Amino acid sequence: MKTEQKLNIFKDIVAIDTQDKDEKKVADYLAQLFKKYGIDARNIEVSPGRDNLIASFGEGEKVLGLTGHMDVVSIGEKNSWTHDPFDLYEKNGNLFGRGTSDMKSGLAALAIAMIELKESGEKFNGQIKFLATVDEEKNESGAEKFVELGEVEDLDALIVAEPSGVNKKEIENNIGSLPLPDEKIQKLLNDNKTQEQHFLIYAHNGSYDYKVTSTGKTAHSSMPHLGINAINNLIMFYNKQEEYFQNTKLVDDTLGKIIPVTTLIDGGDQINSVPATASLTGRIRTTPTHNADIITRDLEAIIEELNKKHGTRLELEVINNKLPVKSDPNSSFIKLVKELGEKYLMQDYPLRAVAGGTDAATFLKGNPNLQVAVVGPGNNTSHMVDEYVNKEIYLKCIEFYKEVIKEFLK
Ligand SMILES: [Zn+2]
Repeated sequence: MKTEQKLNIFKDIVAIDTQDKDEKKVADYLAQLFKKYGIDARNIEVSPGRDNLIASFGEGEKVLGLTGHMDVVSIGEKNSWTHDPFDLYEKNGNLFGRGTSDMKSGLAALAIAMIELKESGEKFNGQIKFLATVDEEKNESGAEKFVELGEVEDLDALIVAEPSGVNKKEIENNIGSLPLPDEKIQKLLNDNKTQEQHFLIYAHNGSYDYKVTSTGKTAHSSMPHLGINAINNLIMFYNKQEEYFQNTKLVDDTLGKIIPVTTLIDGGDQINSVPATASLTGRIRTTPTHNADIITRDLEAIIEELNKKHGTRLELEVINNKLPVKSDPNSSFIKLVKELGEKYLMQDYPLRAVAGGTDAATFLKGNPNLQVAVVGPGNNTSHMVDEYVNKEIYLKCIEFYKEVIKEFLK
């Protein structure tokens, strides 16, 4: 495929507005493209207007999964963009637009890699399975659907084409923010012949959402002894949970300590009454060492103690739990991806663990031993105004993916 066409496919899917909607249009576009090149593809509806896409070819027992999401985050204030966020725009070797980094470049690169391999007529010892999802940014309901349908059970390894790079200048300005000694980073940057430093992300935290509700009893604020103050009781819980998070001894060898954030707080009805209800929600980035089960057990214990000793009426609800991902850095798959990444991205390609999640967290529910590599052309401008992908890296990733597929299914 000519470079121009590789850029046009990318441009076409950036032009489709998928801000938390309409992924079906991207699925239709890619399905048509795949079919044109003789690759089986079909849509799977997740909700109205929101279809996953599955495409595959090759035969054999070994299955390599390729995945990307088709939704993008909101553009925010359109006027703050230098250029129309849905019209791919090139400047200084970078391609700007919403979803260019996260992650329509990765999605296009995976699809093009598959098409070029199909075109080459080469035979593979196994199957390539492309799984494009909806709704990754919010609920991962697309990934959930694939799990429900059993589509991830046969995967031996998975490439997630989420952004995995950082602009070199930015690393220079913030040296010390990476978990590597400064001299090592400097060497990394000097040896790198491109504009971006990429990392092989082999582990990321899970995410655990919960809500704690405090029930009290309302009364006139001039006679608070007749009521039960739900806010005060919730604050008691809050203080205990903070103590628990800070004092934990559960440190994962790869992902470190959990990262808890209280995200919403709500309580009371009016200025002159003792509040009868209050609640807070939190999101915790979990690790295999300090996982959801342990957190639920420990938060429940705090609540039980407060309810017993202080007569509070607190209740815990677990809203959502996505598993942490931790692949074996010594597995043949991760070693292969590392070796080929160094070659095709023309740089040293260190392994890295990050906090942010991907659809892989949901895929693991259907395939707990799956080896996952997060490797994509995007960078840390994801979700920002004037998001971009480096054009050279985008094109290199296509070659990189092709080689990983060929070598893994040899
Ligand atoms: Zn993403």
